[in-house]
Amino acid sequence: MDRNVIIDGSQGEGGGQILRSALALSLATGTPFRMEKIRAGRRKSGLLRQHLTCVRLAARVGDAFAEGMDLGSKTLAFAPQACRPGTYEVQVGTAGSTSLVAQSVLPALLFADGPTELVIEGGTHARSAPPYDFLEQAWAPVMRTLGASISMAIERHGFFPAGGGRVRIRVEPTSSPRALELRERGERVGTHAKAIVARIPGDVAERELAVVAKQMGWPSSSLHVDAVRDTAGPGNALVLRIEHEHVTEVFTAFGSVGLPAERVAKLACADARSWLKGTAPVGTMLADQLMVPLALGAGGTYRTTALSRHSRTNLEVLMMFLGDICQVHPLEDGGVDVHIRGLLG
Ligand code: AMP
Repeated sequence: MDRNVIIDGSQGEGGGQILRSALALSLATGTPFRMEKIRAGRRKSGLLRQHLTCVRLAARVGDAFAEGMDLGSKTLAFAPQACRPGTYEVQVGTAGSTSLVAQSVLPALLFADGPTELVIEGGTHARSAPPYDFLEQAWAPVMRTLGASISMAIERHGFFPAGGGRVRIRVEPTSSPRALELRERGERVGTHAKAIVARIPGDVAERELAVVAKQMGWPSSSLHVDAVRDTAGPGNALVLRIEHEHVTEVFTAFGSVGLPAERVAKLACADARSWLKGTAPVGTMLADQLMVPLALGAGGTYRTTALSRHSRTNLEVLMMFLGDICQVHPLEDGGVDVHIRGLLG
């Protein structure tokens, strides 16, 4: 393969997603890349533990040549020789996100030529990353629509800063991927709020759920406390799940020292209410996380509430590897239709 994609890691959003998307695209297409200025848009730039774990895992999956695979590195050259499904176990070593590590290889493994099992240790519920519940309830169902079988389990919760969570993800790929067509939510079929608490005062969960009851108007049958044990440290997350016929969305806020429970709940409710105000099925976070899997499968179309900076940057990275495969159509109500032509479409 003589083509080498050169990526400026400071472009657009300038975060870790550029790297994760590049890894997945490189694995699936066999195209090497070189990235400079990795995560230059972030306060602590370069490869942090989470990103390094992504690169190491992708290098194992891809039997890849990798240069710059060091903590703090701002440049990476990555050249895979294969995309090998199999069993992989990795530890981030911090509260770095298990979901994001998974997403650096899963889009390629969904369409590989054999099953994969990933066991990832790190943070399952930490700020600025998809919490485990989002991966399981919002993202994975769309991956099943694309044709792959995917199942996952959380074996231990991991919060910031201690980490120590553990998830297991199994993928049975498909040889006949399906295009996505997701423009409607369909009927509402359920609402579910879960206050996850570990080693923190018992009233936190109740106070969060009281705010959810008031702001969302959800009945007590929708409100649940998940008091988790066996964690490396304390933690709290409030996860709101809204299930519709064709999509499930998940909105999460994370507790932290000095942030009152009521404030945590209001943050999650604000995100959920903002999505509920629109009609597009795919929220802004899910929107950026569907792009790479669609591009590597049979493609498709989805309607999202808005294109975030993450989404716009991700589209640019996609096009660097795969050419002009994406189109976006803004709609009158502020929503956006995203069309992606898939490699296997
Ligand atoms: P980056 O900031 O580049 O590392 O990318 C962060 C990724 O995490 C993006 O794909 C976001 O959509 C995703 N993300 C951040 N917060 C959440 C959340 N609360 N729920 C779901 N996804 C999230």
